[in-house]
Amino acid sequence: NLASNEISGFEALIRWNHPLRGMVSPAAFIPLAEEIGFILPMGEWVIRQACATAAQWPAHLHVAVNISAIQFRSPGLLQVIVGALAASGLAPTRLEIEITESVLLHNKEATLAVLHQLRALGIRIAMDDFGTGYSSLAYLQSFPFDKIKIDRSFVKNVTDNPSSLNIVRAVAALANGMGMTATAEGVETAEQLERITSEGCTEMQGYLFSRPLPAAEIEQKFLGGRGPRDVSGRIVAA
Ligand code: MG
Ligand code: MG
Repeated sequence: NLASNEISGFEALIRWNHPLRGMVSPAAFIPLAEEIGFILPMGEWVIRQACATAAQWPAHLHVAVNISAIQFRSPGLLQVIVGALAASGLAPTRLEIEITESVLLHNKEATLAVLHQLRALGIRIAMDDFGTGYSSLAYLQSFPFDKIKIDRSFVKNVTDNPSSLNIVRAVAALANGMGMTATAEGVETAEQLERITSEGCTEMQGYLFSRPLPAAEIEQKFLGGRGPRDVSGRIVAA
């Protein structure tokens, strides 16, 4: 959070720690998982794992989970999310669902209905990678997103490419005007941070803050290590 200069939450990212190949990038296995239909059980595992992890972290931190178009097309998504919240005890207001514009491209009405149901539970909804897809402003009008995440491709060039700067400025203004959080993705340098802040972004994420880390390392590095736990494994105040 650029106003408070405090951590507001974390985005759950998947990695495959393969016994022979080491860390396999999601770019290598997600398309395959989608092709063979494994994306649904894997996506469900991700949601449950993210909620269970975040439930043990301080209550002001939210966790963001990326949900694909295929998951949105499956009828069980709402039940999976509700089940993960119930099993973990995570407050729905601490869960943020990230969708890209491609999710709204097909079956827009059915998707909006699910988004409204999620929102009614208190779950936050973010528009991810904004600017790279169709960037339809009608999407922003069709649903009250809590957050717009400005794609890294614009943030990357914000200090030396005037058109990238103008796009970051315009999208941040749009988000602020609509009462949405404006998050800059992929911030890597202090110069980029200064520029996106002065252009109206209200949150940042990226390597300047930290590279993606396993949950245990996040606890060590940012959450003061593993404190005392109650019977369900939640950190309790010392
Ligand atoms: Mg994302
Ligand atoms: Mg993104």
